[in-house]
Formats: sequence, C-alpha cells, structure tokens
Amino acid sequence: MAAAAAELERLRMAGAGMAIAVLTSGGDAQGMNAAVRAVTRMGIYVGAKVFLIYEGYEGLVEGGDNIKQANWLSVSNIIQLGGTVIGSARCKAFTTRAGRLRAARNLVEHGITNLCVIGGDGSLTGADIFRSEWGGLLEELVRDGQISEEVARENCRLNIVGLVGSIDNDFCGTDMTIGTDSALHRIMEVIDAITTTAQSHQRTFVLEVMGRHCGYLALVSGLASGADWLFIPESPPEDGWEDLMCERLGETRSRGSRLNIIIIAEGAIDRSGKPISSNYVKDLVVQRLGFDTRVTVLGHVQRGGTPSAFDRVLSSKMGMEAVMALLEATPDTPACVVSLSGNQSVRLPLMECVQVTKDVQKAMDEKRFEEAIQLRGRSFENNWNIYKLLAHQKPAQEKSPFSFAILNVGAPAAGMNAAVRSAVRIGICQGHTVYVVSDGFEGLSKGQIREVGWHDVAGWLGRGGSMLGTKRTLPKTCMEKIVENVRKFNIQGLLVIGGFEAYEGVLQLVEARGQYEELCIIMCVIPATISNNVPGTDFSLGSDTAVNAAMESCDRIKQSASGTKRRVFIVETMGGYCGYLSTVTGIAVGADAAYVYEDPFTIHDLKANVEHLTDKMKTDIQRGLVLRNEKCHEHYTTEFLYNLYSSEGKGIFDCRINVLGHLQQGGAPTPFDRNYGTKLGVKAVLWMSEKLQEVYRKGRVFANSGDSACVIGLRKKVVAFSPVTELKKVTDFEHRLPQEQWWLNLRLMLKMLANYQISLTEYISGKMEHVTRRTLSIEKGF
Ligand code: ADP
Repeated sequence: MAAAAAELERLRMAGAGMAIAVLTSGGDAQGMNAAVRAVTRMGIYVGAKVFLIYEGYEGLVEGGDNIKQANWLSVSNIIQLGGTVIGSARCKAFTTRAGRLRAARNLVEHGITNLCVIGGDGSLTGADIFRSEWGGLLEELVRDGQISEEVARENCRLNIVGLVGSIDNDFCGTDMTIGTDSALHRIMEVIDAITTTAQSHQRTFVLEVMGRHCGYLALVSGLASGADWLFIPESPPEDGWEDLMCERLGETRSRGSRLNIIIIAEGAIDRSGKPISSNYVKDLVVQRLGFDTRVTVLGHVQRGGTPSAFDRVLSSKMGMEAVMALLEATPDTPACVVSLSGNQSVRLPLMECVQVTKDVQKAMDEKRFEEAIQLRGRSFENNWNIYKLLAHQKPAQEKSPFSFAILNVGAPAAGMNAAVRSAVRIGICQGHTVYVVSDGFEGLSKGQIREVGWHDVAGWLGRGGSMLGTKRTLPKTCMEKIVENVRKFNIQGLLVIGGFEAYEGVLQLVEARGQYEELCIIMCVIPATISNNVPGTDFSLGSDTAVNAAMESCDRIKQSASGTKRRVFIVETMGGYCGYLSTVTGIAVGADAAYVYEDPFTIHDLKANVEHLTDKMKTDIQRGLVLRNEKCHEHYTTEFLYNLYSSEGKGIFDCRINVLGHLQQGGAPTPFDRNYGTKLGVKAVLWMSEKLQEVYRKGRVFANSGDSACVIGLRKKVVAFSPVTELKKVTDFEHRLPQEQWWLNLRLMLKMLANYQISLTEYISGKMEHVTRRTLSIEKGF
C-alpha cells in the first residue's frame, strides 16, 4: 500500500515537463466538454502543460491558432454545455499521410507528445494510426529539414489515450460512451411529450431514433417507454413480421390502450438486409389497421441540450483517468481507451476494442445476428431479452400455485412504478397471482390488498412518484395484523420496493419468523430511494432522477447569477446522512465544495473553503456554489454556513441560500431509472419464482433460511441478491447508511476539479486490463 502511494506521488511529479493536447473529433456528443475540462484540469494539476486543439483533426493539421495552451479558467463554466466548445470536425486531410505529417509537425512544434482524443471509433482509429506512424513521420520531418534530429529524439514517442464520445453507445469495451445517456434523456422527453398528445387522440407513433449501425438508443428507449414494437439493426424481425406487428398493435388497442409506440433505429433492416423505413411501417399500420399514425424522426435533437448528470460524471471520471494513463504510459504501452466497467474507469487496448466494434458490423453484414447481439455485450443482450420478455409474452394460460404481493415503502422515488409494472407483468406471465398493496406495510396490515391484471399497470413506466401509495410505517408497529393478512390472502412472497425502511422492514419480518410461521415466505427488497443509502446495492432506484433534478436546479441557480458578480450560493440537498446526492450533484455542476457526513470536516476546512472562494472572486469566475447535505453536521447547519460565509466574505462576495427540498423527489423518472426499475422488477420476480419453487413442499411454501429474504442490487456490474440478515452486519442503523460506500472515492475528483489541494495517493487508478476479444464483448454492462 505504502509502495503504491509512493508510486502515485512519483507520478504526480512526472507530470512536470509533460505536454498534453486534447481534441474532440467526429460527431459531437453531450459530455465532451466535461471530458475536456477534466483532462485540462487534471493535466494542469499534475504539473503538465495542456493544449486545447480546436476543430478536431482539422485544427491539428492546420495548426496555428487552432492549438492553444489552456489554463485552469479556460475550461470554466462549460460542464453544463452540450456539444463541444473546442469544436469538432471531420477531416479528410488527416486520413492521408501528408495530413498526418503536418499534424506531427504541429505537435512537435509545441513539444506535445501526449494526445487525448475524444471521439468515435473512426477518430480513435485515426489516432492509433498516427501513433504507429509517429517514428516514420518524425524521420520524414528530419529528412525534409523541418525539424532537427535532436527535436525528433526529444519527441520520439507519442502517447495516445482515447475517450469514446458517441451518442450511439456503439463502442465495444465500455459500458457507456459519452453522450449516450443524454441522448436517451432527449428521446424520453420527446416520448413523454408525444404520449400525452397521442393519448388524447388514440394514435400510433412511429419514432425514428439515431443509430445507423447500432440499435442501443432504440433498444433502451423501447424498454424505457414500453414500446409495442422495436426495430434494431442487430436483430431484424422474422419474415412475416408485418402480420405479427399488426396483430400485436390490434391486441393492445383492443385491451384498451389508446396509444401505440413503435421505435425504429435509423439503421433498421429486415432479414435480407433491406432497410425498413419509418414511413413503410407507418403506411403498413394505416393500410392494415386504419389507425391514425404519425412518424417522428428525432435527428439532431438527440445530440442537443445539456448533458445529463451521468454524462458529466462519466466524462469527468474518464478525463481524469486519461491523464493518469498518459502519466503511466511506457514505450510498451499500446494506445489505450478509457472505458467504464460498472462504476469504475478502466483502460483497455484501443485497437482491440475497435476490432470488436468492427466484428459486430461484420457479423451483421454476414447475417450472424445472434452473434452480433452477443458481441454488443451482456448489457445489450440483457436489455434485448428483457424487452422481448415484456413486450412479446402473453399472460400465462395456466395458473401457478403461487401468489405474491408488491408494496412501496418510504418516500416516493422515481422508477418505483416501472419496477411495479414489470414485476406485475412477469408475475402474471409466470402464472402467479399478483397482489398490490397500497400504503406500504401499513396498508398490508389494514388489508389494502388487491389482485392486479396485466392492463392495470399500463402507462406506469414513465410516471413519477408512487402509484401504489407509500408510507414509512415499519412492520413492528403492526406485525399481528400483517401476519393476519398474509395468512388471509395466502401471500407466499413479498416484493418490497422502497428505501431504508423497506430493507429495515423486511429485516423485522425475517426476525419475527420464529414467532409467526406465516412470515416464512420469500421476500425481496428493490432499493428505491433518492438517498442511495440502502446496503446491498451501488445504486438505488430514483437516485439518478434526483441527481438530475438537483443538478438542473443548480444549473439554474448558477445561471441566475450570470449577470451578478461575486456571489456564492449555498445549496442544501436531501439524502439523510448519505452524501451521495450532494457529492454526485457537486461533480455534475462543478461545485466548489460539497459537505457530507461521511467525509468529516472541521472549522479548518470551512476556513480553507472561504479562502478558496475569496481567491476565486479575484479571477474572472466571480461565482461560487457550495453544496451541503442536510445532515452533514450537527452544528454546522445550512444557516450557520450562510452566516459564516456571509460574514467572512463581507465586501468580497455575498451569499444566497437555496434549500432544494422536495423537488428532488419529483419529476419524471430518467431513462436510467425507468430501465433500471424495469430490469430490477423482472429479475426480482424471476428470483422469487425460483425460490418459491425451491421451498414449495406438500402444497405449501416454507422459507426460513437467510437467503430467502434478500436485497436485489447492482454491485459493480452484476445483479446480486444479498440476504438482509447478512447486510445487517454491515449497516450503520443509527445513521441509516451502509458501512462502506463505493462513491466516496469520487470525492477526490470533486476536490481536484474544484482546485483544492488533494493527495493523489488516494486516487485509485484504473490499471490497464489485459483482455481478449471474447471477454471484451461478454463483459460489457449488466
Ligand atoms: P467518429 O470518430 O465519430 O467515428 P468519423 O469516423 O467520421 O467519426 O471520424 C472522424 C475523423 O477521424 C475523420 O474525419 C478523420 O479525420 C479521422 N479518421 C477516421 N478514421 C480514420 C482513419 N482510418 N485514419 C485516419 N483518420 C481517421
């Protein structure tokens, strides 16, 4: 450990004397600015000179004013902007050796031997070619007398690191590419808007989304909107799909639905490789069914708008890691790409990833469609399977002997309804009797229990809040009555969707099993809370929506001061004792500090922050934003901070307070929460079904082992089921927190990006992973 720390400190010094250039290339994507910002600041932080190259490879080839040295403030106030402030271009010249020779000349002129390219696979391939030719290019420059041999020797090695910016998520090796999540946000906004109008008129919508070769955007938006039919290039529909599709649309209409959604990726094809156009689909629906049908082609809307919180955090993480990769590069290190694996940044050999990405296209060209889906990675395959399960399955003909009940517990969180919907439907597909309970454990004790059908949950996917109704009451206060109703309704499984109380409540039920045999049933908790404080998962449902809501508010707060100089905002977020919401929002908005309970602070830290802001007021950026988690400190309250900052900043800056409050719980769920809720609902019910089978003997269910009551959650990149009795050992009940929280290491990034002195020794860098092409594709996502 100590050796590792010393090594990292050495690396920090290694940045001195280095020159790093960063450019954005190919199609723009939201989040590129956050990446440019992070590369620039981390570069400067480690003592390197950082250059911004404007207009992508075009600027690299042209040189001159297109290559400018950056300072800390060059990248201020850009994190919230869409597109790329340094410009992107397609550049013909760079595809020729002559063009690359000019590019090499321009880099050498500035002594730049480290290049960070943010772009798609084309741009990254170009970068790799550039790197492999570098030696030869310098020799040629020496031969032509453009540079001396000495200069060539000094610049003999070019290090390349790539960050994938592409809204299509079409790059193998990373769970997500920069821009994809924001594009999904844009798509969902449009779907929500057309859903309202379509429902008033009974309409069918054919929505075309981007993705010439990759159906990711179509697939995830199909899943997140409960589309009736989906066309993606990786899985062309079976011959005769026209009949099947019309049959399906007719069925949903006859079941009472007023709206049909068909999503089509722009590169959709049929089995023979012939494109399927949105107009063809529309005409088909009109001719065969006579439905009022409209086509919406989304186009560049998907690239527009502000980046989502996820993209801002992802890009910041990747940018920081890119600089680490350049610092650690040796002559033997191949060009690498920084990618996301679960919630970690990792480095992968660039060309391997490009190759697998090409393999997918080849598989599609050769009509090996199943393989194409597999090569896209586990997440893609998983999404596709879940979509098919929900959209293509019909309610079971035969009833199973099992029944289970679903309830929401605690405060509402976005995505709860999506989870209820998919759980209900999968339960029905399996032939189970599915009950829903209103008002949580209290409703269960009062018998507010009803059986639901497939159609009862139609339209729930995109709804915020809790359609079932939720309460905080814990079972302890009404145990007898709960037991009575479990017996009365013959409930053999409980699916509890909620926050810390949901987990605590299930634990209480498990602990009461000795007393009440009726509680020897299968129980599962789907963590759903904006606080993200449930043990057993890295993310709880609703936290992504809450972070985006808090981020949007902070963006507006910042903007409100654009005409006012020297102002500091103190913004209080929710989260109980958990600082997740504060920290992640802080990174997403580029806050100057985020005070949280888990990262204790003293008066010395407060003093340092005030001084930091005082210094900042001397720069062009005369504005500050400080976040404070509601329970971060018993005495240093929001009011206290306001008074302290106001007093210490007197004559230098003035302060304003904003308590974000319940707006963090509201709003339509983000695409991530809809999708995550849907998946967790499906997986939880499949797990419960399996467990019910396991413990079913002689016509009854009897479960009393620890693993019969679990929290389902995403851990790294796998969906895991953790027994509540095990989680009890790693829970801080007093503060309602898991004892260990993965996101704490993000705080280092927040501080570095806000220009505080931090010790890099705590930074865990993503080592280069050695992968085969096979593992690359299999590993992608959950
Ligand atoms: P993306 O990076 O989004 O895939 P493109 O494929 O259009 O977008 O590539 C962007 C730019 O990257 C191109 O205009 C070109 O300058 C450069 N580039 C792409 N492929 C290569 C290549 N094989 N060799 C050299 N440069 C390339």
